[in-house]
Amino acid sequence: MTDQAAPPAPDVDTSAIQEIARGVYVITDRRVPLVPNIGIVLGDKSALVIDTGMGNANGRAVLEAAKKLAGDRELILTLTHFHPEHGYGADAFKGVAKIIYNKAQAAEFADKGQPYLDMFKGMGPAVAAALADTTLVEADELYDGAEHIIDLGGRTVLLKTWGKAHTRGDQIVFIPDCKVLFTGDLAEEKTFPIFPWFPPDDMDIDGANWLKVLDDCLKLTPVIVVPGHGDIDDEAILTDVRDYITDVAAKVKTAAAAGKSEDEAIADLGPSIRAAHPSWHFPEWIDFAIRYFYAQKA
Ligand SMILES: [Zn+2]
Repeated sequence: MTDQAAPPAPDVDTSAIQEIARGVYVITDRRVPLVPNIGIVLGDKSALVIDTGMGNANGRAVLEAAKKLAGDRELILTLTHFHPEHGYGADAFKGVAKIIYNKAQAAEFADKGQPYLDMFKGMGPAVAAALADTTLVEADELYDGAEHIIDLGGRTVLLKTWGKAHTRGDQIVFIPDCKVLFTGDLAEEKTFPIFPWFPPDDMDIDGANWLKVLDDCLKLTPVIVVPGHGDIDDEAILTDVRDYITDVAAKVKTAAAAGKSEDEAIADLGPSIRAAHPSWHFPEWIDFAIRYFYAQKA
């Protein structure tokens, strides 16, 4: 995706599991690139898995961890969005768990699933190996509209989408009884937000809607926020991302209005944006955000 050094093996380590609220578990990403935070939520009757990690071996490991916790509960899998490191282990769950996506997410996966598999396989030998035996599988059930509530038995979970933001079909998962929010890549912790702006192949980002998503997520008053990547924290994860996107959008608008070219805007703004977030990871995403907002100026 970028020309940085090849990333290490994107292995999910299921021993890095912790219970963050009653019956809510996270297999943490340990800040390994291309490993997401993965959720397992237990109800009385069913267990919901949120994201799988990348590739069949990771998917199988997550499935085993979920089975261990779930016992004889029915298993349900949902994904925060279609990106490979979040959902390309779903084949391990096919036929074992009921797989649920929103319609936009399924359509985006149908359009881009294979191109993204090919692109990620080009990101170095470790990533290619993880994805070598990946089969792209479809959901068993799609929901239409902005919300879908799943009754796990004794507790409900809310799946919610706002349409295009970080991708075309991002979805959050919120557990009202403990106010835990899983954000996917709509919010990463101490990480420059990923703007997958790859014109003309992928331009499915909506920065303004992304800000609305973050505001609406704040209105849910989450107590614990599980970001797509990075450490678990509170709503500060949401406000940090919101403030970053707002700031970059404003700065690019000013630069464009002053007649700067796209490359001049990047040269002018990139270093100061980087310097303003010294502890954040993956600064290579700053330029993608600048290019995205520059393209919106017209
Ligand atoms: Zn993503």
